[in-house]
Amino acid sequence: MKIQMCDLVGQYRKIQPEVDGAISQVINSSAFINGPQVKEFKANLEKYTGAGHVIPCANGTDALQIALMALGLQPGDEVIVPAFTYVAAAEVIALLKLVPVMVDVDRESFNITPAHIEKGLSSKTKAMIPVHLFGQSCPMEEIMDFAQKHHLFIIEDNAQAIGAWYTFSNGSKRQTGTIGHIGCTSFFPTKNLGCFGDGGALTTEDDLLAERLRMMTVHGQAVKYHHEVLGCNSRLDTLQAAILNVKLRRLDEYTHARQRAAKIYSEGLKDVAGIALPGEMPYSTHVYHQYTLKVKDGRRNALKAYLSEKGVPSMIYYPLPLNGQNAFKGIARAAGSLDVSKELSDSVLSLPMHTELTADEQGYIIDAVKKFFR
Ligand SMILES: *Cc1c(COP(=O)(O)O)cnc(C)c1O
Repeated sequence: MKIQMCDLVGQYRKIQPEVDGAISQVINSSAFINGPQVKEFKANLEKYTGAGHVIPCANGTDALQIALMALGLQPGDEVIVPAFTYVAAAEVIALLKLVPVMVDVDRESFNITPAHIEKGLSSKTKAMIPVHLFGQSCPMEEIMDFAQKHHLFIIEDNAQAIGAWYTFSNGSKRQTGTIGHIGCTSFFPTKNLGCFGDGGALTTEDDLLAERLRMMTVHGQAVKYHHEVLGCNSRLDTLQAAILNVKLRRLDEYTHARQRAAKIYSEGLKDVAGIALPGEMPYSTHVYHQYTLKVKDGRRNALKAYLSEKGVPSMIYYPLPLNGQNAFKGIARAAGSLDVSKELSDSVLSLPMHTELTADEQGYIIDAVKKFFR
């Protein structure tokens, strides 16, 4: 048994004829840039997410940068981000000479809440980027209420949560990434909807904003060779779109496989006193991009080493909060105590999570965790 953190080959084998056919069709037409499959994917993803507009782009980090560029923010304007997350959002904020303001996160959900955001608020705050970390939504209804009150733009970083549903207090539901002013996602191969290279997309409900976002992806061009604003070159290539068209049809099936695997972990590990299991929030489904434990009593690194000895891979997402990263020294503002972010960085451990996990593999992983704590 060779357990993998993420099994992309196993997933590909099951859809190989269809994927290979789609790839070969693109090669045979050689419409590698802006081929018909890109338009098809845009339409397919609009249908899937319920978003008014999808704008494909080159990767998730570009999506975040393009979102910020389209909002017309000025150098020195502040944008609130969680301290416990992947670097991309804070990085593009800083690259655009905006100020990343880092706030703490909730211990249970790993996500920001209005109480955390409030600590980062100043007269310069113009936007915030809630990240739906590990596959579960931030409390978006409260975040949108807060944003409206303080006139802030919300850019959702949905790179880890595509396909997750948020339930509002009136019972209505929306997919994550379609609730804020702009949503950003990534099709990096290991993401829940991954292509065979880099890819990304933006979503918005706003027609004017959609046009601005689209312009930003093509050198600020409205009409060919007429550039209205400074943009960038960020395209989803046709081969990736063709692959994504095949995989999007299976995204719900993939999500269910992840949810089933998470349930097996949670059942198997519920009596282990040395760990805390990932919490599921009542307002969101969880699409388990990662299944992330909190290991108590400073034993995280020891558990990781033990699992590795037993042939069980595991990963630390993320070992250092953003406020501790050298790249942000003198650039970012840390707002309030970031103790929970630090505590999480020292205690989190993600177990293997993908669509191809078998009951045998999970049984072995669960046993190994239990043995460590015995
Ligand atoms: C993967 C990821 C990104 C960046 O996506 P790329 O396509 O790799 O640029 C941004 N934010 C989060 C939370 C991610 O997990």
